[in-house]
Amino acid sequence: VPELPEVETLRRDLDAVAVGRTIEHATVSGGARTFRRYGDAAGFAQRVSGRRLAAAGRRGKYLLLRLHDGGVVVVHLGMSGQLLWLDAGAAVAGHTHLVLRFASASPEPGPELRFVDPRTFGEVFFAAGVDATGVPVELSHLGVDPLDPGFTVGSLAAILGSRRTRLKSLLLDQRAVAGIGNLYADEILWAARLAPERPAGGLRPAEVRRLHAGIQAVLADAVAHRGSSLADAQYRDLGGGLGGHGPHHQAYGREGRPCRRCGRPIRRVAAQGRSTFSCPTCQPPRGSAGRGVGGG
Ligand SMILES: [Zn+2]
Repeated sequence: VPELPEVETLRRDLDAVAVGRTIEHATVSGGARTFRRYGDAAGFAQRVSGRRLAAAGRRGKYLLLRLHDGGVVVVHLGMSGQLLWLDAGAAVAGHTHLVLRFASASPEPGPELRFVDPRTFGEVFFAAGVDATGVPVELSHLGVDPLDPGFTVGSLAAILGSRRTRLKSLLLDQRAVAGIGNLYADEILWAARLAPERPAGGLRPAEVRRLHAGIQAVLADAVAHRGSSLADAQYRDLGGGLGGHGPHHQAYGREGRPCRRCGRPIRRVAAQGRSTFSCPTCQPPRGSAGRGVGGG
């Protein structure tokens, strides 16, 4: 499931190859579920055709394709969505729900941006409007983006407040912090040496600083490695390549294998249809003041 680092990788790729180009034509094929938000796939195609892609932005797990006339196309990859940059002649894969063909300077047809989504949990829509900061009104519920300069130790402390929500649930709550999903939540909590089940509001100031540092370091690392492609190889970058962060996972998917910090086995706990991986030694259930690095 693509999270912030995967979407940010796509954003950067789009910035490099697509921004500045004009969308010549949009083809919507079959993807009623993809356009379910407003149900107007034909109107969507008409609205974006002839517009220049002015910028590629991101908010949490949402990609924002900003057009020169102020319009914004919002893309969410859902569980299995892919955005691919291909030559016009490339075979069209099954489950391709949208093709944006870009203008070409040569007589040959220009490149295409294609949205492929077998499970159709993803979506594409044209934003009804944006707020003063350029965020589509449909995304106004999202919390702070952890790569935004406004995400500070202080703002994290305010988000944690006196909430009794478990730390992991809070990290997954897109209204609190936008962009973190199951994989990076586990990685962040391992890095911060905090147990997933601890109440969010119960952290000491030093722990809040660790959590903030963990969020920033884990996400930055994952972006540097172009995200994580799991065993299903579902996540692809814009050129179809795999993310390289998998070998750097410290907790996620490492059940029973030695913690790279203390050597004790990583534990997996299943709840609410998802797994949580953590090190019970480095991430003690009630926290502990000076301990955690060597595991004793
Ligand atoms: Zn450990």
